[in-house]
Amino acid sequence: MTDAWTELSDRTTELKAIEGLMGMAEWDQQVMMPAAGSGARGAHMSLLSGLHHEKLTDDRVGELLETLTGGDLTETQSASVRNLQRDFDRATRVPAALVKRGAVVRAKAFPAWAEAKEASDFSQFSPHLAELIDIAKETVSAIDSESDPYDVLLAPFDPGSTVATLDPMFDRLGSELGTLLDALEDGEAPAKLEGPWDVAKQRSLHDEVATALGFDWKRGRLDNSEHPFTVGVHPTDVRITTHIYPEGLLSGLSGTVHEVGHGLYEQGIPTELSMTAAGSAASFGLHESQSRFWENTIGRSRAFSNWLSSRANKRLGTSFSGEELYGAANRVQRSLVRVFADEVTYNLHILVRYTLERRIFAGEVTVDELPDAWTDLYESTIGVRPGTAAEGVLQDVHWAGGMFAYFPSYTLGNLYAASLGATLVEEMPDLWDQVEAGEFQDILGWLRHNVHSRAHLADAPDIMAAAVGERDHVEDLVDYLWSRHGALHGVTR
Ligand SMILES: [Zn+2]
Repeated sequence: MTDAWTELSDRTTELKAIEGLMGMAEWDQQVMMPAAGSGARGAHMSLLSGLHHEKLTDDRVGELLETLTGGDLTETQSASVRNLQRDFDRATRVPAALVKRGAVVRAKAFPAWAEAKEASDFSQFSPHLAELIDIAKETVSAIDSESDPYDVLLAPFDPGSTVATLDPMFDRLGSELGTLLDALEDGEAPAKLEGPWDVAKQRSLHDEVATALGFDWKRGRLDNSEHPFTVGVHPTDVRITTHIYPEGLLSGLSGTVHEVGHGLYEQGIPTELSMTAAGSAASFGLHESQSRFWENTIGRSRAFSNWLSSRANKRLGTSFSGEELYGAANRVQRSLVRVFADEVTYNLHILVRYTLERRIFAGEVTVDELPDAWTDLYESTIGVRPGTAAEGVLQDVHWAGGMFAYFPSYTLGNLYAASLGATLVEEMPDLWDQVEAGEFQDILGWLRHNVHSRAHLADAPDIMAAAVGERDHVEDLVDYLWSRHGALHGVTR
């Protein structure tokens, strides 16, 4: 048993090292690489992913997993065996020819999507999308032909979550958020800030905020990129990026706070777990809960705005009041584009995509029907109607990358963040005093203990249940949104 564990650990260490290199190459591609390097980078990435696949699907890995399963294992060992078994099953069940076809179709689909979006012409992308959906369906039936196809798609992003919980959750959220949105429109909207602000001075403010929140610069970097993202190469090497806008002080800053939240999670994975199959985030949804918690629960709070105003005024030479920043950070409006959505409407954008993906994989909507179905759902869910395909069905990159069932992770993140926030307020009565004083170490300590240090020792729903108890996440999110935005708009529930 010990020998089998040692051998499997050695193999897992190699897999994790390859994943770290792939993360670094991906970061480099978006931050440092000259444009002409993309061809060569494709060859590098394809070598690494081929090597990873080869090592993961080695027969010996299957034998070792079989030897260890059900044995007398520590928590780390049994979680690693379970996680690696899932990866092994997925990787070995899908025929190599199908994997290859997927890579070829995705390589063509991405530029086709970009051009179609530029021209706002869905027909340029639809044949690629149809093929990507076919490949996803074939992949799903190769992995598990018994379960609901959507559950099989969901598993690599949010293991432990299924449509049985997501369907009723999205139903309730849709109607509760619709009610809130209607009510807010009867109130008065807070004003936005008028720029511009010096980019270098903004950057110094971002650095100060990241430091205050607990981002460890010895184990991480913050760079610029077109779209902010986080890559955890290792807990000792976490790369986050941001985008600073001359006219968008708060949008740039909330992007940084969001990525710092992801980065703190990655830095908080225990190093002793980092090279095991239990040493990563438990799910995309839990990852998103960390970024959303810092971005919204803390970063858009009145207490944070009060603290931020003094820091911003010092660095930027402005004279903001905390109340001004608080209002500007919490403007709510019905809109067409997910990435610019506020925290009240955001989950409605996800609800539209979830509904459509469910219908696609239940065979209830064809690719050609998608643009109209999208438009109708936006009208009935958010009350706005996209006039173009670019603002509608073509707005997100996910489907062009063959990523179906990714979107629910965003909403799971918001739901988890709300329950983490509600629990923290109960457990730390002086939480908002600490935030207003710019002291975040106790909050980070709580997250380290209850979430980060748990890595992938359990699935996200179990980590959440241990952290917050059996809470109703939908109720927590709706309560939180009402109390913040209702008060700001002068309306009550
Ligand atoms: Zn995120």
